Amino acid sequence: MKYRIASIKGDGIGPEIVTQAQKVLNRVAEKYGHEFEFKELLMGGCSIDAYGIPLTDETITEAGNSDAVLMGSIGGNTATSPWYKLEPSKRPEAGLLGIRKALNLFANLRPAYLYPELKDACPLKEAVAQKGFDMMMMRELTGGLYFGERYTKEIEGVMTAVDTLSYNEKEIRRIAIKGFDIAMKRRKKVTLVDKANVLDSSRLWRKITEEVSKDYPQVEYGVMLVDNCAMQLVKDPAQFDVVLTENMFGDILSDEASMITGSIGMLPSASLNETRFGLYEPSGGSAPDIAGKNIANPIATILSAAMMLRYSFDLDKEADAIENAVKQVLKEGYRTIDLAKEGEETVKCDEMGDLIAARI
Ligand code: NAD
Repeated sequence: MKYRIASIKGDGIGPEIVTQAQKVLNRVAEKYGHEFEFKELLMGGCSIDAYGIPLTDETITEAGNSDAVLMGSIGGNTATSPWYKLEPSKRPEAGLLGIRKALNLFANLRPAYLYPELKDACPLKEAVAQKGFDMMMMRELTGGLYFGERYTKEIEGVMTAVDTLSYNEKEIRRIAIKGFDIAMKRRKKVTLVDKANVLDSSRLWRKITEEVSKDYPQVEYGVMLVDNCAMQLVKDPAQFDVVLTENMFGDILSDEASMITGSIGMLPSASLNETRFGLYEPSGGSAPDIAGKNIANPIATILSAAMMLRYSFDLDKEADAIENAVKQVLKEGYRTIDLAKEGEETVKCDEMGDLIAARI
């Protein structure tokens, strides 16, 4: 089949790492008889340089007309780059927020998987790391506390700040359905994380998610309070498959889950809307400190491409092939500089792309 992929390489290491993911996708196309057509689009700093704004209408339209978006990362050195002398709405990051909003990307997925070969980088106790873990943090991205009404004012002579946390049943239902759909492609377990002992919004999450769970009898469904989840992630992360949660809890817990995998260069992510459309990108930033040196780790972007195949195109076999190729190169001992132990030999960014493509 033919798929149209919008490619937003972005700034810093973005072009280097996306080029490697495209190389791997082209190999998948060759092997499995698909066609991936890439449409290169600008966003972030490179768009500011070309058009004076971080996100153009053309990029939004072209991205929206594609089957999925593969992104690198945007932004520069926030202390020295002239992009950060602009007002906040004109800076590179405004492009990312803008495209998420324009394309209604409400569900953020961040897998946290511990590769046995990299378990030395895991900061957890040996006995915990030994068991490994493989979970999908699923965070609501467009509602809740970060989008509610907020103000600071003096009330009866006392300065008071108010932030509002609100969710409606539609916002909860659409992400709960996504969560259960994704669990069906994995180990068929969903844990809803909330604070239902205190918050009304959490109680509505429980009610709606429980209703949705009835349509997925094969999926084991459970609930957990957020404070307990923060502890369980470091005590026994192997218990989790899909962790479904609202925006702020997800913001915090997904960073905790990333941290226990030990390496930012290995972490893919996806942001999905109600259709099969999604934007796929590595969790890390544009790493201006190593940009242009061909030493960045492209694996997070390559794994983001695998997520795109699985969740937007339903190409599970092809996604497995990429993930297995990554496992294989790690098993064979190849490391980019960020993964290497002291004294260990390293491969460059483009070599890592070649090695993975060759194992598809
Ligand atoms: P960063 O993730 O870019 O870098 C943090 C550290 O991790 C650096 O030492 C970097 O070299 C390293 N690193 C990151 N990705 C790597 C990779 N693939 N391989 C090897 N090492 C890697 O975070 P930062 O320095 O805080 O931010 C730099 C810029 O990126 C800023 O402009 C920031 O706003 C932007 N940013 C963009 C996104 C995005 O595009 N989604 C996300 C986060 C940060």
